[in-house]
Amino acid sequence: MSNADGPREDRHPRSAELYERACRVIPGGVSSPVRAFRAVGGTPLFIARALGAQVFDADGRSYLDFVGSWGPLIAGHAHPAVIAALTEALTRGTTYGAPCAAEVELAERVVASYPAAEQVRFVSSGTEAVMSAIRVARAFTGCDVIVKFAGCYHGHADHLLVAAGSGLATFGRPSSAGVPEAFTALTRVLPLDDEAAVAALFAREGARIAAVIIEPVPANHGLLPQRPEFLATLRRLTSQHGALLIFDEVISGFRLGRGGAAELTGITPDLVTFGKVIGGGMPVGAFGAARKIMARLAPDGDTYQAGTLSGNPVAMTAGLATLDLLVRESGWQRLEARGAELERLLRPVLAQAPFPLHLVRVGSLFWISFHEAGAPRTAATLTERESVRYAALFHGMLDRGIYLPPSAYEACFLSLAHSTTDLTRFAQALRAALAAIA
Ligand SMILES: *Cc1c(COP(=O)(O)O)cnc(C)c1O
Repeated sequence: MSNADGPREDRHPRSAELYERACRVIPGGVSSPVRAFRAVGGTPLFIARALGAQVFDADGRSYLDFVGSWGPLIAGHAHPAVIAALTEALTRGTTYGAPCAAEVELAERVVASYPAAEQVRFVSSGTEAVMSAIRVARAFTGCDVIVKFAGCYHGHADHLLVAAGSGLATFGRPSSAGVPEAFTALTRVLPLDDEAAVAALFAREGARIAAVIIEPVPANHGLLPQRPEFLATLRRLTSQHGALLIFDEVISGFRLGRGGAAELTGITPDLVTFGKVIGGGMPVGAFGAARKIMARLAPDGDTYQAGTLSGNPVAMTAGLATLDLLVRESGWQRLEARGAELERLLRPVLAQAPFPLHLVRVGSLFWISFHEAGAPRTAATLTERESVRYAALFHGMLDRGIYLPPSAYEACFLSLAHSTTDLTRFAQALRAALAAIA
């Protein structure tokens, strides 16, 4: 197959040259590690422009994009309504370091959409949103222990870069160099899908737990939709012990519906974090909760939290334009229909694959699981053989003009810009790429 045609650099000379320059001045040549293609091999493509469902690389090749900048671009790249709103906003200046109307409007939209958030504060990334939510949860409860789940990603704050420890204690160990053990000593890591483990932890340490944080639809280790009973158990145990339940909706918020995963699952958290879609492609995060919790934040309360570019009018405008478009164009219904259509097209292709593949889909999020044993509900690791297969498929799809995430553990994203023609093209390319691997 084309994978063996020779060094990819030959076919992407501009990307190869940019990558070489990048590696001299940027560690690994990238601003975020997954972009480096390490899990699939080859040279990362440098993107020169993007429109709708397509990205165009520096060598002028176009690809149908199923990464969507990892989630924000629910309307597709450079949607005219978003670009028009941004262009107009830019003429009025980019940031004031003072309040502006756009942040009030976006906050009003969020509060109206997400009942658990009576108030919301804006930051500039999902990482910051989670950091701040945890700080306010600790301030509000007066407790210090945080519980997270293996396979859920909550950004790169020190106390969340934690791997499950061995044994009963579930004490987290730092999962990155540069994170002292003392910084993760208050973080506990549990497996997903395991009510008994959560109950045991609460029985042991319930009085110390400030918050349980989870992606209600975990989408950072493949896509691992949880059983409703599991989320219900988290809700019940946190309430019983006076701990807060934090839904990290940085991916799911405003993607799986107006009310995010809370609406989808019918479970209401105490605190919520947003990112990605809420910024419409600009750097925005947010966290929200009931007024009595948010009142702990400075300047009203004693919990410090701040940001130079937080709530800037340009970023707020991109978020507003995106949310307005989703409402105006029945975006969530359309995305669900598009997802269902993709599922119909892919099922027969996957059924005929030369090795076991499983499609997992929630709305406009989907994941082709390469786990031979079936799609997992916990953070299962792929075998070497399964990882090699993904790398082959990734490159086979790239050669056919389809841009998938450069890691088998990343979910794919649909946008309003993906047409029926695009989805058909995807299914046909998948069939051909799988046949070539066989
Ligand atoms: C992307 C992500 C984050 C981190 O957001 P950044 O904007 O990359 O800092 C946090 N939580 C979840 C669930 C995410 O998907």
